[in-house]
Amino acid sequence: MEVKCPICTKPVVWSPQSEYRPFCSKKCQLIDLGEWAGEDRKIAGKPAQDATPQAMDIEEIEAMLAQQPNDFFKH
Ligand SMILES: [Zn+2]
Repeated sequence: MEVKCPICTKPVVWSPQSEYRPFCSKKCQLIDLGEWAGEDRKIAGKPAQDATPQAMDIEEIEAMLAQQPNDFFKH
């Protein structure tokens, strides 16, 4: 029985000898793990990076809105 490596689609023999099945090699297994880790880092990192500019933007917007007449929202 053969399966395709999810990373490079190379045929992998499904047997106890294929230590990294369904991956063809340790490299592809690590790529798969790395993609997961990469996603985690993106999800965890992005809000943290954006937090400061966003907080500043909100403060600026609030300052601007404070100067706007109240009928700004009555549309
Ligand atoms: Zn592979």
